[in-house]
Amino acid sequence: MKFTDLNPKREIGAHSLLVDVGEFRLLIDGGMSPKDVGLACLPDYTRIAPDSVDLIILTHCHLDHIGSLPCIHRSQPSARVLMTPASREILPVMLQNSYTVMLKQRDEKEVEEYPLFSRSEADAIDLDVFAMHFGRTREFVKNGEHLRITFYPAGHVMGAAAVLLEHGGKKHFFTGDILFRRQHTLNGAQIPTMQVDTLVTETTRGLAEHSANFTYEDEADRLLESVAKALREGGSCLLPVFALGRMQEVVTLICEARHRGILPRNFPVYCSGLGLAVVDVFEKIGRNGKKYGLNYTAPDRISPPVLQNLGHRLAPEGEMVFRKRSLNALNVRPLPRSRVKAGIDIRRSSLFVMSSGMLVENTPAYQVAASLMPFSHNLIAFTGYCDIDTPGGKLLGQAPGDIFRFETLEFETPIRARVEHYDLSGHADREDLLHLAKVMNPSSIVLSHGDGNARKWFEGALTMALPAARIFNPEPQETYEI
Ligand SMILES: [Zn+2]
Ligand SMILES: [Zn+2]
Repeated sequence: MKFTDLNPKREIGAHSLLVDVGEFRLLIDGGMSPKDVGLACLPDYTRIAPDSVDLIILTHCHLDHIGSLPCIHRSQPSARVLMTPASREILPVMLQNSYTVMLKQRDEKEVEEYPLFSRSEADAIDLDVFAMHFGRTREFVKNGEHLRITFYPAGHVMGAAAVLLEHGGKKHFFTGDILFRRQHTLNGAQIPTMQVDTLVTETTRGLAEHSANFTYEDEADRLLESVAKALREGGSCLLPVFALGRMQEVVTLICEARHRGILPRNFPVYCSGLGLAVVDVFEKIGRNGKKYGLNYTAPDRISPPVLQNLGHRLAPEGEMVFRKRSLNALNVRPLPRSRVKAGIDIRRSSLFVMSSGMLVENTPAYQVAASLMPFSHNLIAFTGYCDIDTPGGKLLGQAPGDIFRFETLEFETPIRARVEHYDLSGHADREDLLHLAKVMNPSSIVLSHGDGNARKWFEGALTMALPAARIFNPEPQETYEI
């Protein structure tokens, strides 16, 4: 197998992997970096000749995996685009939103090259989609060679797939973004026990350390207690989240907490538009769970440490529990953006569950943060991964009282609101990925989708755990024979 990481930087962002196996040329994901602007946010597609890719595989619909899909699809007219039926439903919503955001940025930030694709180019992907159900192997033939591909549920977010390629008697496994733990709105990864030759693993949480008795449920309760305290004291709360997946999970947590009496009753809840649009698609998928393979369970599932430590309040295995009624019960409404102004406090104590999760400029979360930050009764609570170069990452690195500058709003303020971080990540803990590697016992391991230091941790830990394996921490844009 030949492997090239097309992400120009060794970090999470413009995720895209070019994979050559025998006669087949595959592209896995076509992402876009959330913190860069213009052409700088793209993977390096310049090394892919026009019409040379046979299959584009989409693992899931976060922007760092799909944001540039129409750009590469445009130059690869013969490529089939493989994704799960659930991703097929979600993809157009995400791409159309991305298109709208780019149009806005073209005017606000004077980015001439935006939008990077047209609406019709985004829509055209669907014509080439080949839907892949979990656990059903498909075989592709080219020049007499056979390539077998199987998708397995990766947890993480609705429709997310881990991918197994079988070619020439070898097995190559790609985790994609993966989570073994069950969430309140989605089952965990279902990966059958198997031995593989190559493991390509995400490394997002290489630097995330937990105490031995950490549980997701306790962490969620800690967050909810903090939110309750702020609301009872007359403050407002901002929870910056990814619109796809995390927003629905957090809204479900809040709904349950209010039901259990942990949160006060009468406070308005606001969500941003994309998160609400995704909810409608989730509802459709949830109502037809079987059709979308939500009930798939892997035989002899790989069971990393986190699965032995599950919280008692989670839904029974096999049930997908996100329902629009959580939104209705909370009377969730879209953000009245005109009523939110930098430096002016929200008059009524409110809860904002807003994208972006990393507080990227000009997003609803960014705007609300600029309103809440100067006032000590307010709370800004992050629940997931923040790149250190994004406003969210920078804010988490600052101390109370420091000056925080909202660049694009030309506004700065001392940090007076409480700023906290809760570890409710949608990515697997590093120990779980180590367990996966040990079970799969590959002869080669490729590190991807993580910051430099996170990959370093995996490099060290995997070398210790699997001394016979070759570990690749690939340079961006370089091709490796694996
Ligand atoms: Zn993701
Ligand atoms: Zn990702």
